Amino acid sequence: MSKLKSFAASLDSGHIYALMVCLIGIGLFSYTNGFEFFHYKPTSWVWVYAMTGACLILNFFMIQLPPEGNELSMDSSVYLACIFIFGTSFTLTVLLFNCLFFVIIDRNTSWWKHLTNFSIYCIMITVSSTLFQYLGGNPGALINTKLFTYLIVLTVYFAVNTLLVGLYYYILYRGTLFETIKDIIKDSVFVFLCSLALSLVLTVLVYHNQVLGLMLFMCLAVLLSQSFRKLFAMYRSIEERANTDQRTGLFNHSYFEEVLEQEIQKSRSAGTPLSLAMIDLDDFKKYNDHYGHLQGDKLITFVGETLKSESLNAGTIAARYGGEEFTLLMPGYDSQKARIYIDQLRKKLNNSPFSGVEIFPLGCLAFSAGIASYSSDIHDKSQLVDHADQALYYSKHQGKNTVHIYGEHSPLEQEIDFSQDVRDIEQQLNLFMYKDMETFRHSKRVFRYAMDISELLDIDPIAKRHFTLGALIHDIGKLEIPWGILNKKDKLEPEEWEMVKWHVTWGKKMALTNEKFKDLAPYIELHHERYDGKGYPYGFKGEEIPRLCRMLTIIDSFDAMTTERPYQPTKSFEEAIVELRACAGSQFDPELTEFFIRYIESREPRAGDPAV
Ligand code: GH3
Ligand code: MG
Ligand code: MG
Repeated sequence: MSKLKSFAASLDSGHIYALMVCLIGIGLFSYTNGFEFFHYKPTSWVWVYAMTGACLILNFFMIQLPPEGNELSMDSSVYLACIFIFGTSFTLTVLLFNCLFFVIIDRNTSWWKHLTNFSIYCIMITVSSTLFQYLGGNPGALINTKLFTYLIVLTVYFAVNTLLVGLYYYILYRGTLFETIKDIIKDSVFVFLCSLALSLVLTVLVYHNQVLGLMLFMCLAVLLSQSFRKLFAMYRSIEERANTDQRTGLFNHSYFEEVLEQEIQKSRSAGTPLSLAMIDLDDFKKYNDHYGHLQGDKLITFVGETLKSESLNAGTIAARYGGEEFTLLMPGYDSQKARIYIDQLRKKLNNSPFSGVEIFPLGCLAFSAGIASYSSDIHDKSQLVDHADQALYYSKHQGKNTVHIYGEHSPLEQEIDFSQDVRDIEQQLNLFMYKDMETFRHSKRVFRYAMDISELLDIDPIAKRHFTLGALIHDIGKLEIPWGILNKKDKLEPEEWEMVKWHVTWGKKMALTNEKFKDLAPYIELHHERYDGKGYPYGFKGEEIPRLCRMLTIIDSFDAMTTERPYQPTKSFEEAIVELRACAGSQFDPELTEFFIRYIESREPRAGDPAV
């Protein structure tokens, strides 16, 4: 009994769903087929063997399509042809023998997966076959006037498949059911059309020419499969060439960008570390100028080959970024581990003999590297590249042949930089003094809140700096809004409101014009996104919005609530807290909202506080 209980407890919703599908599938099989094959005559057995054999062969000769792993099995066309010629019960018998064979040869797949697969096919076959008979279809020859019926049967066959598989993924991964089903249909529409055409051809061939017809069909199917295999191999080699840098054999820049995007996604969803190193050979120009470009190319090839073999051993991904610059993407590496690894590589190259390296200042081959690690505040791959690039720049300035991690400048240096940056931004904000005094004051207040909050949050100095500067500059795009709209006392017209919304995009563009403020762009662009995805400009949802941007949204709204604005009664701090809580989970990140409220409640009131 206790065993039964622990078994029940170990079942998750995916298992329960599979169990239900199995019960329905086996029920339908027993009801429709009832193991009547025990009474088959020898001629029926011949067809069972023939059709089962056809299914098995087609399962080995699949049609390979890009991308890798996308294979289309044509066995459904055999099942459909069986429905059209022999009826439901016979088709289920073929299915049973086919599945039994797979249970024997494929021991790696668990028995319940085999059973679920069998049950899904049982449901598909029974439902579509019953419909075929309901629509007046009789097992036998292909009837010219009933082509539409065949099409409906096939559509239902695939609709049942898509629904059953889609529900399974929906239960397991909790996306939206509609999106899941849309993805499956997009992937399988080609299979769907192929199976329709093939099943009708097979029906004609088998009905009129029996075994000879089946053999002809199989010949065609096998040849087709082989042709696709050849095409696929060609596709693979072209793809490989397109992704490879011919000089070094490393991945090229565009493929690196693709992989970077994928690895960031993986790291984001699995919460695993990811680091990126940007590597630039030191004083390469000198080598080039001295020995000529051809010899320079040889050196680049040598460095590329070294990086390639090292990366293969370490599970990292090396690419040639351009010229004599390389990138190393290191999944599973945090910044410290990445530093140790890149430093080892640096020393290895320092000690690598290569013709002419004595003309380098250190008398050996050397590179400088910058490392940046992925964190939840990074919302775009270019940000990570940019951080690694900044760290590389810093390494070069430290005297080359060094590795530097982004964000590890000395604190003093940062303090000086910071106050200079604040002054630079304030200078731009001063333009608001004549255009919109309230935005000027609001920016300063939001900056002060952000300074306080950044002390309480557990974030690194660089994130702190970006967050607070981002808070100060977040509304800079409003400088582009005409004076009349910015200071309008009446309610805004819809088109005026649309224009106001553009301030996030304009602001981002303004920030991107200045190398120093590039990292502040997400704060400017995303501070009107909402936790529930109903914000602008992108409609990002939940964790898609970087954490500190979500915090800025809360601060920005809190300040807006507690200061005088046209068409909005000013709220006291207490009233604003109630409002924040009411909108937590929809407009705001609930966890950060509570964090902010704790800060507001514990903070001493200040003279400049509004509504105090
Ligand atoms: P630094 O230490 O500051 O990086 O100095 P550097 O001399 O390496 O300077 P920089 O990175 O600015 O210059 C790199 C040079 O590499 C410039 C270009 O002539 C050369 N280069 C870029 N791509 C290739 C290439 O494919 N083959 C050869 N032979 N030279 C290249
Ligand atoms: Mg360079
Ligand atoms: Mg260089």
